[in-house]
Amino acid sequence: MIKFEDVGKRYPNGYEGLKHINLEIGQGEFVAIIGLSGAGKSTLIRTINRMHDITSGSLTVDGTDVMSLSGKSLRRFRRKIGMIFQSFNLITRTTVIKNVLTAFVPDMPWYRSLFGIYNEEEKMKALEALDKVGILNKAFVRADQLSGGQQQRVALARTLAQSPQIILADEPVASLDPVTAKQVMNDFKRINQDMNISILINIHHVDLALKYCTRVIGISAGEIVYDGPSDKVDKAILNQIYGGGQEEEV
Ligand code: ADP
Repeated sequence: MIKFEDVGKRYPNGYEGLKHINLEIGQGEFVAIIGLSGAGKSTLIRTINRMHDITSGSLTVDGTDVMSLSGKSLRRFRRKIGMIFQSFNLITRTTVIKNVLTAFVPDMPWYRSLFGIYNEEEKMKALEALDKVGILNKAFVRADQLSGGQQQRVALARTLAQSPQIILADEPVASLDPVTAKQVMNDFKRINQDMNISILINIHHVDLALKYCTRVIGISAGEIVYDGPSDKVDKAILNQIYGGGQEEEV
């Protein structure tokens, strides 16, 4: 369980990115975080793997106080949490399988990572991960030969290869066309259901959030203004979240 208790995040310039956040997210939930640009969506999910430090309150993952971690314990903790970005972050000039195999580098002895030597178990895991996102047939294709949607699937496979308990996705479909965005959202949904991985997605597209995710958290100016099932979100709630400046129609 991910638990926020009265969490605040003040940036060094004094700006309060998050205010009084109280949240409990159980294992296996599929949560959309929605809100205007600058509302604090990215700040919120990045506190969970300590990409951002909280500055007040308490944040725990399965009882572990995230702010108490450092060095080796923080690295081990981060292995349980996959991160997906809008920009895929692949090594585009190498093959898909090599991209997925990089998931194992943090756990490898230095000489294996230096020469890129992977064992059979790692190779099998990487191929299985590609199979889960339906692009096993692209394993030996260079990443830059793939479409945007396929590249996002490679990023997802790389995350799956690290056997995560939680996946944090920061605007994962923002740079994809509508059809491809739906396919990638379907991948997330399948992974969430089949593998019981908790998934938190920051997403601009309200229609996709409501269609694919089971819970919606609406943020406005660093505060939670809605937290509930996606099928209860109506116009009034969207107005509360977007303050009349709604970015996407339902
Ligand atoms: P969102 O993901 O909803 O677009 P962010 O979480 O990226 O919003 O940002 C929330 C607010 O915090 C924004 O107003 C942004 O300008 C501010 N912010 C983000 N990063 C920093 C930083 N490093 N220093 C100061 N303010 C920041």
